[in-house]
Amino acid sequence: MRPFKLIRPTTAKEAMEAQKGNAAPYMAAGTDLLNRIKEHVASPDSVVDLKQMPGMGTIESDGRGIWLGALVKLTDVADHEEIQRRFPAVSTTVRNAATPQIRNMATVGGNMCQKPRCWYLRHEGYPCIKNGGTGCWAKDGENEFHAIYDNQICSATQPSNLAPVLVAHDAIIEIEGKDGVKELTADEFFIGPSEDPLREVKLDQGEFVRRVLLPASTETSLWAYEEAREKQSFDWAQASVTILLDRGGRKGDHRVIFGAVSPAPLRREDIEKKLDGSDDEATQASLIVGVGANPLSHNAYKVPMLQGLMRRAVRTVRSREEG
Ligand SMILES: Cc1cc2nc3c(=O)[nH]c(=O)nc-3n(C[C@H](O)[C@H](O)[C@H](O)COP(=O)(O)OP(=O)(O)OC[C@H]3O[C@@H](n4cnc5c(N)ncnc54)[C@H](O)[C@@H]3O)c2cc1C
Repeated sequence: MRPFKLIRPTTAKEAMEAQKGNAAPYMAAGTDLLNRIKEHVASPDSVVDLKQMPGMGTIESDGRGIWLGALVKLTDVADHEEIQRRFPAVSTTVRNAATPQIRNMATVGGNMCQKPRCWYLRHEGYPCIKNGGTGCWAKDGENEFHAIYDNQICSATQPSNLAPVLVAHDAIIEIEGKDGVKELTADEFFIGPSEDPLREVKLDQGEFVRRVLLPASTETSLWAYEEAREKQSFDWAQASVTILLDRGGRKGDHRVIFGAVSPAPLRREDIEKKLDGSDDEATQASLIVGVGANPLSHNAYKVPMLQGLMRRAVRTVRSREEG
């Protein structure tokens, strides 16, 4: 591993002055960043360790909902009693991520900002549109785990387990930047290559995630999360479906979000409209899963996989309704 200087800021000003894009990136627990440095995919001169930053390591509730500090560990999110009760889809998706050891270290902010797991992107010998080259090697190469939607520019998927459920809940991302603190919705925060092929999240140079709000206005007990992965642990999801029904108690305020099948979490309003409580809604919903899909040479299996997850998720959410 190439040596780098470790900078440990304790104020937002120090952090923002020290961070210099790829030359001096932020680090939380380092479970993603340090691997990229070891694999020579990232070669920073300095690393800006956020762990000493105040106010980013706690879970707190107020009238707006539950705030997750960006430095809170995934295990602490999964085990938090109030999150389990009020936002069960969040604790469940986080509990499914990675391995117990990684969840004990990895943070909320790091999970949201981790780089995609595309093997070309993570190999120094394949410069692609995301790391200074042109085009997407996976499109005509090994693309088994890649995107089946929105994959024209880059076919890497958003790997974060938190990303789809944060979009489903209209989570608010609190960002520290040069003009102070600002808020983006999760939907605005996670971006695809048509908005910017170099980034997966909407953070400008120097900006970092401080906290994430799970809004009280989107709480619901009618939820389902289904995912498929090759291995139960030490792996990433190949596809996932998050369903929230009647968010905040508002009839018809539904969300259906696909994960791991596109460069950013994918909302499916057409499927939300099919969730009307009828007997054949699971079939109806699964039938239109493939609309808009553009499978590559090795990943067409993701369409029937998503259809199966969708049917299972609809049945789960309805069984919760029946108590
Ligand atoms: C074997 C294995 C399996 C895995 N499976 C899954 C899985 O199923 N689901 C899943 O979601 N993840 C999975 N992961 C990824 C893992 O969850 C991430 O490595 C971890 O969440 C990153 O958190 P971290 O705190 O270590 O981030 P770091 O490695 O410290 O940082 C990751 C990135 O985020 C940036 N960053 C960190 N914090 C902030 C912040 N506050 N503001 C702005 N930028 C920031 C860093 O600059 C860096 O680019 C897996 C990892 C491994 C090794």
